[in-house]
Amino acid sequence: MQFSGQILKMATQNAKPIQYFLNLSDDLINMNQLIGKNIRIKHTGYECVNCGKDEKVYRMGFCKKCFFESPYASDTIIRPELSTAHLGIGERDLEIEKSIQLQPHIVYLAYTGDVKVGVTRDTQIPTRWIDQGATFALPIAITENRYEAGMIEVAMKEHLADKTNWKKMLEDDFEDDLDLADFREKIKNYFPENFKNFYTKDHTMVRLDYPYEAPEKITSFTLDKMPEFEGVLNGIKGQYLSFEGGSFLNVRAHEGYVVELTV
Ligand SMILES: [Zn+2]
Repeated sequence: MQFSGQILKMATQNAKPIQYFLNLSDDLINMNQLIGKNIRIKHTGYECVNCGKDEKVYRMGFCKKCFFESPYASDTIIRPELSTAHLGIGERDLEIEKSIQLQPHIVYLAYTGDVKVGVTRDTQIPTRWIDQGATFALPIAITENRYEAGMIEVAMKEHLADKTNWKKMLEDDFEDDLDLADFREKIKNYFPENFKNFYTKDHTMVRLDYPYEAPEKITSFTLDKMPEFEGVLNGIKGQYLSFEGGSFLNVRAHEGYVVELTV
């Protein structure tokens, strides 16, 4: 069977184990069913996620022009604390920024090899956690907008990691009795005074179950370095496809790439 199209990050369903669907120009291919099978991927071009042009992807699926112009790639996407839509101040397009920023956001703890802090819109739970490959996750604050969540995250970052170390995440090493509620309790005092009212204990820890077992050694490849790849799919964690021999492809890092997939 052959499929072809533009890669977007894999769609997921939180089941036991999590179900993954490779999104190739809206063809959703269930990847769990392909575990144990040989897959060939060939890079044939680009399709910017914003303008659709066949321009080399610069970052996050955007061509260079769109990355620097689209409100969906603005600084506040990466750094929520810079958000200004709540003040009526726009960065690239105020109306779109309002729609992104002025809605409930969650500050959460997630275990991805280390305990880290993160921010996401509440509609992105648990998708965001699955995309990061978190084994455990727990909301610690619910805010009214992106700015407030960003400010809490900035304060927490002084005490906790905020980036995922992909290798550690893929090593899949964790204590079964890890309890993020203990961390929630400990870091309560680090909340900035003005934002303490957003702290919440209303949630219980979520555990996520991936179709994945860590291999002995972990290496990653990109379609830039290897435009044609063939291998047996061994499992999936986060947005990484794990192939026999310990080679990993980060699907999310290839958004906007056009490929042919042969199963
Ligand atoms: Zn573009």
